[in-house]
Amino acid sequence: MDVLDVLRARGGLLQGHFVLSSGRHSDTYLQLAAPFEYPGVGAELAGVLAQAVRAHGLSPATVVGPAFGAILPGYELARALDTRFLFAERAEGGRMALRRGFAVRVGEEVLVCENTLTTGGSALEAVDLLRGLGAEVVGVAVYCDRVPDPAAVFGRLPYVAAARMPLDSWAPEDCPLCRAGSPAVKPGSRPMAR
Ligand SMILES: [Zn+2]
Repeated sequence: MDVLDVLRARGGLLQGHFVLSSGRHSDTYLQLAAPFEYPGVGAELAGVLAQAVRAHGLSPATVVGPAFGAILPGYELARALDTRFLFAERAEGGRMALRRGFAVRVGEEVLVCENTLTTGGSALEAVDLLRGLGAEVVGVAVYCDRVPDPAAVFGRLPYVAAARMPLDSWAPEDCPLCRAGSPAVKPGSRPMAR
Protein backbone atom coordinates (compact mmCIF):
# COMPACT_ATOMS: atom_id res chain seq x y z
CA MET A 1 0.00 0.00 0.00
CA ASP A 2 1.39 3.37 -1.07
CA VAL A 3 0.44 6.01 1.49
CA LEU A 4 0.82 8.89 -0.97
CA ASP A 5 -1.46 7.14 -3.50
CA VAL A 6 -4.09 6.75 -0.79
CA LEU A 7 -3.80 10.42 0.15
CA ARG A 8 -4.10 11.42 -3.50
CA ALA A 9 -7.15 9.22 -4.03
CA ARG A 10 -8.89 10.53 -0.88
CA GLY A 11 -8.34 14.23 -1.52
CA GLY A 12 -5.58 14.52 1.04
CA LEU A 13 -2.89 15.69 -1.35
CA LEU A 14 -3.76 19.04 -2.85
CA GLN A 15 -1.90 20.64 -5.75
CA GLY A 16 -2.08 24.39 -6.26
CA HIS A 17 -0.69 27.49 -4.59
CA PHE A 18 -0.89 27.57 -0.83
CA VAL A 19 0.08 29.75 2.10
CA LEU A 20 1.42 27.45 4.84
CA SER A 21 0.94 28.18 8.54
CA SER A 22 4.58 29.36 8.56
CA GLY A 23 3.64 32.07 6.02
CA ARG A 24 5.72 30.42 3.30
CA HIS A 25 4.18 29.44 -0.04
CA SER A 26 4.07 25.93 -1.49
CA ASP A 27 2.63 24.09 -4.50
CA THR A 28 1.41 21.12 -2.47
CA TYR A 29 -0.63 20.80 0.71
CA LEU A 30 -1.32 17.69 2.76
CA GLN A 31 -4.72 17.40 4.36
CA LEU A 32 -4.29 14.29 6.52
CA ALA A 33 -7.80 14.69 7.93
CA ALA A 34 -9.22 13.72 4.52
CA PRO A 35 -8.40 9.98 4.52
CA PHE A 36 -9.51 9.74 8.17
CA GLU A 37 -13.04 10.70 7.07
CA TYR A 38 -13.16 6.99 6.19
CA PRO A 39 -12.32 4.91 9.28
CA GLY A 40 -11.43 1.88 7.16
CA VAL A 41 -8.93 3.92 5.15
CA GLY A 42 -7.50 5.52 8.30
CA ALA A 43 -7.08 2.07 9.84
CA GLU A 44 -5.21 0.85 6.75
CA LEU A 45 -2.85 3.83 6.85
CA ALA A 46 -2.29 3.21 10.55
CA GLY A 47 -1.44 -0.39 9.74
CA VAL A 48 1.34 0.77 7.39
CA LEU A 49 2.74 3.11 10.03
CA ALA A 50 2.47 0.43 12.72
CA GLN A 51 4.55 -1.91 10.56
CA ALA A 52 7.23 0.76 10.20
CA VAL A 53 7.19 1.35 13.97
CA ARG A 54 7.68 -2.38 14.63
CA ALA A 55 10.41 -2.56 11.96
CA HIS A 56 12.28 0.07 14.00
CA GLY A 57 12.11 -2.26 16.98
CA LEU A 58 9.83 0.08 18.91
CA SER A 59 7.16 -1.34 21.20
CA PRO A 60 5.71 1.57 23.17
CA ALA A 61 3.14 1.16 25.93
CA THR A 62 1.36 4.35 24.90
CA VAL A 63 0.90 6.52 21.81
CA VAL A 64 0.50 10.26 22.36
CA GLY A 65 -0.92 12.61 19.74
CA PRO A 66 0.04 16.25 20.14
CA ALA A 67 -3.06 18.36 19.61
CA PHE A 68 -6.24 18.06 17.62
CA GLY A 69 -5.04 16.96 14.16
CA ALA A 70 -3.20 13.98 15.65
CA ILE A 71 -6.13 12.53 17.60
CA LEU A 72 -7.59 10.25 14.91
CA PRO A 73 -4.22 9.29 13.34
CA GLY A 74 -2.75 8.61 16.79
CA TYR A 75 -5.81 6.71 17.98
CA GLU A 76 -5.72 4.44 14.93
CA LEU A 77 -1.98 3.85 15.37
CA ALA A 78 -2.58 2.93 19.01
CA ARG A 79 -5.26 0.48 17.90
CA ALA A 80 -2.87 -1.07 15.32
CA LEU A 81 -0.09 -1.36 17.91
CA ASP A 82 -2.51 -2.40 20.68
CA THR A 83 -1.33 0.33 23.05
CA ARG A 84 -2.98 2.99 25.17
CA PHE A 85 -3.67 6.38 23.55
CA LEU A 86 -3.55 9.89 25.00
CA PHE A 87 -3.61 13.27 23.38
CA ALA A 88 -2.01 16.52 24.42
CA GLU A 89 -3.61 19.88 23.77
CA ARG A 90 -2.91 23.55 24.14
CA ALA A 91 -3.55 24.85 27.62
CA GLU A 92 -3.70 28.46 28.78
CA GLY A 93 -0.79 30.48 27.48
CA GLY A 94 -0.46 28.18 24.45
CA ARG A 95 1.64 25.60 26.29
CA MET A 96 1.07 21.95 25.42
CA ALA A 97 -0.36 19.87 28.27
CA LEU A 98 -2.07 16.61 29.15
CA ARG A 99 -5.59 17.38 30.36
CA ARG A 100 -8.84 15.44 30.90
CA GLY A 101 -7.22 13.31 33.59
CA PHE A 102 -4.63 11.89 31.18
CA ALA A 103 -1.34 10.99 32.87
CA VAL A 104 1.82 9.02 32.17
CA ARG A 105 3.79 6.93 34.64
CA VAL A 106 7.46 7.58 35.35
CA GLY A 107 9.45 5.49 32.88
CA GLU A 108 6.41 4.71 30.71
CA GLU A 109 7.52 4.14 27.11
CA VAL A 110 5.60 6.52 24.89
CA LEU A 111 5.60 7.14 21.16
CA VAL A 112 4.63 10.57 19.85
CA CYS A 113 2.46 10.32 16.70
CA GLU A 114 1.74 13.12 14.26
CA ASN A 115 -0.24 13.15 11.01
CA THR A 116 2.32 15.16 9.06
CA LEU A 117 5.35 17.18 10.07
CA THR A 118 6.91 20.10 8.24
CA THR A 119 9.11 21.60 10.97
CA GLY A 120 8.65 19.00 13.74
CA GLY A 121 8.02 21.77 16.25
CA SER A 122 4.77 20.46 17.72
CA ALA A 123 6.16 16.92 18.01
CA LEU A 124 9.21 18.25 19.84
CA GLU A 125 6.97 20.19 22.22
CA ALA A 126 5.15 16.95 23.01
CA VAL A 127 8.47 15.13 23.52
CA ASP A 128 9.55 17.82 26.01
CA LEU A 129 6.19 17.71 27.79
CA LEU A 130 6.28 13.91 28.19
CA ARG A 131 9.90 13.83 29.32
CA GLY A 132 9.07 16.55 31.81
CA LEU A 133 6.36 14.25 33.22
CA GLY A 134 8.88 11.43 33.61
CA ALA A 135 7.91 9.31 30.59
CA GLU A 136 10.51 7.71 28.37
CA VAL A 137 9.91 8.91 24.81
CA VAL A 138 10.97 6.04 22.53
CA GLY A 139 10.40 7.83 19.24
CA VAL A 140 8.29 9.96 16.94
CA ALA A 141 6.06 8.39 14.28
CA VAL A 142 4.49 10.34 11.43
CA TYR A 143 2.19 9.34 8.58
CA CYS A 144 3.85 11.68 6.11
CA ASP A 145 7.21 13.29 6.75
CA ARG A 146 7.98 16.67 5.20
CA VAL A 147 10.80 17.74 7.51
CA PRO A 148 13.81 18.81 5.41
CA ASP A 149 16.39 17.42 7.85
CA PRO A 150 14.79 15.22 10.56
CA ALA A 151 18.15 14.40 12.19
CA ALA A 152 18.68 18.11 12.81
CA VAL A 153 15.33 18.28 14.60
CA PHE A 154 15.13 14.97 16.47
CA GLY A 155 18.79 14.10 16.93
CA ARG A 156 19.14 10.48 18.07
CA LEU A 157 15.46 10.02 18.87
CA PRO A 158 14.08 7.32 16.52
CA TYR A 159 11.93 8.91 13.82
CA VAL A 160 9.57 6.72 11.79
CA ALA A 161 7.60 7.81 8.74
CA ALA A 162 5.07 5.83 6.67
CA ALA A 163 5.73 8.11 3.69
CA ARG A 164 7.83 11.06 2.76
CA MET A 165 6.95 13.99 0.56
CA PRO A 166 9.64 16.67 0.35
CA LEU A 167 8.34 20.15 1.09
CA ASP A 168 9.11 22.75 -1.56
CA SER A 169 8.32 26.11 -0.07
CA TRP A 170 9.33 29.66 -0.71
CA ALA A 171 9.20 33.01 1.04
CA PRO A 172 6.34 34.96 -0.63
CA GLU A 173 8.78 37.32 -2.35
CA ASP A 174 10.65 34.35 -3.89
CA CYS A 175 7.55 32.33 -4.84
CA PRO A 176 7.55 31.33 -8.53
CA LEU A 177 3.76 30.83 -8.43
CA CYS A 178 3.21 34.41 -7.19
CA ARG A 179 5.56 35.59 -9.91
CA ALA A 180 3.42 33.73 -12.45
CA GLY A 181 0.43 35.70 -11.17
CA SER A 182 -1.62 32.96 -9.49
CA PRO A 183 -3.44 33.82 -6.23
CA ALA A 184 -2.31 31.92 -3.10
CA VAL A 185 -4.90 30.10 -0.98
CA LYS A 186 -4.70 29.56 2.77
CA PRO A 187 -5.92 25.97 3.32
CA GLY A 188 -8.49 25.68 6.06
CA SER A 189 -9.53 29.32 5.90
CA ARG A 190 -12.47 28.46 3.69
CA PRO A 191 -14.29 25.28 2.70
CA MET A 192 -12.38 23.19 0.17
CA ALA A 193 -14.04 22.11 -3.06
CA ARG A 194 -13.60 18.46 -3.92
ZN1 LIG B 1 3.16 32.32 -3.84
